[in-house]
Amino acid sequence: MRTIRTVPELRAHLTRVEGRVGLVPTMGAFHAGHESLIGAARADTDHVVVSLFVNPAQFNDPRDLEAYPRDERADASIAQELGADVLFAPAPETVYPDGFATTVRVAGLSDVLEGAQRGPGHFAGVCTVVAKLFNMVRPDVAYFGQKDAQQVAVLRRMVEDLDFPLALEVCPTVREPDGLALSSRNVRLSPGERAKAAGLPQALRVAAEGGVEAGLAVLREYGIEPEYLALVDPDTFEAPGPLAVVAATVGTTRLIDNVLIERAATPERRGADPKGAVSVLPTP
Ligand code: AMP
Repeated sequence: MRTIRTVPELRAHLTRVEGRVGLVPTMGAFHAGHESLIGAARADTDHVVVSLFVNPAQFNDPRDLEAYPRDERADASIAQELGADVLFAPAPETVYPDGFATTVRVAGLSDVLEGAQRGPGHFAGVCTVVAKLFNMVRPDVAYFGQKDAQQVAVLRRMVEDLDFPLALEVCPTVREPDGLALSSRNVRLSPGERAKAAGLPQALRVAAEGGVEAGLAVLREYGIEPEYLALVDPDTFEAPGPLAVVAATVGTTRLIDNVLIERAATPERRGADPKGAVSVLPTP
C-alpha cells in the first residue's frame, strides 16, 4: 500500500492502474465500521483508495474538531492489512489551498435534523470535500456507511444532480454487542457514559415499534436528552417515514444512529396482526 499526500502524485498513480477503482472516504480513527467499508471495496473493485482527511469544513464546533481522534499510523496499518492499495492522506492546505472559494450545497435535505442541529455548513462541508475526492480519485464505486444515513441521502442527491459517473454503495451499520453503533467518537465516552449510550439503539427500536413518544421514554430512563428522535423518510428525511433517527450528546460526546423499520404491508400479514407487523431490520 502506498501513502499519497498530493493530488499530482495521486493522479500520476491512478493513470497507471487498471480496472475498477473503489473509494472509501474516511476521517480516520478506524474501527470495524470503516473496516467493513474497506472490505467491501476490496471485494468489489480492483484498486482500493482509502482517503483519510479530518475535514475542518464539516465541523461546526472547533472543540469537536480539536478533540477528534487521530492516529494515522494505526489507520495505515489497518488499511494495508485489509488490502487497500492507496491511503490518500492530504494536508488541509492541499484540499483547501489559498483562494479556495467553492461550496457544493444540497438544498433542503441539508437543512433538517443533522443539518439543523449542526448548521447549514455541515453537509455543505461534507458535499464539497466528497465532490473534490470524487474528482481527484474518479472512482467507479464509492463506499459509505448507513450509520450516517442523512449523509448518504445528501450524497445520493449530489451524485444524481451533478452527474458524477459513479455508483454509491451503502454498507450496514456495524454495532457493539449491546447495539451501540461503532463510532470514532466512542473512545471519548467514560465507562458510565458508555453504559448510558446503549440507550440510543434501544430507543430507536422502541420508537420503531411504539412510536416516537415510546422511544423518548426510553431515552428519559437512560437520562439522555436527545437533540432529536424522529421517524422519517430515508430519502427526504421528512416525517413520517420508516427510518428511526436519533442524535444526542452523552457527556460531551455527540452521537447519532438510525434503524430502518419494515412495516408488513401484505393482506395476509395484516390479517395476522391488525396493527400491522413491525420488525426492525439491522440497517441496510
Ligand atoms: P467517518 O470516518 O466517521 O467519516 O466515517 C467514514 C465512513 O465510515 C462513513 O461513510 C461512515 O458512515 C462509515 N461508518 C462510520 N461508522 C460506521 C459503522 N458503525 N458502521 C458502518 N459504517 C460506518
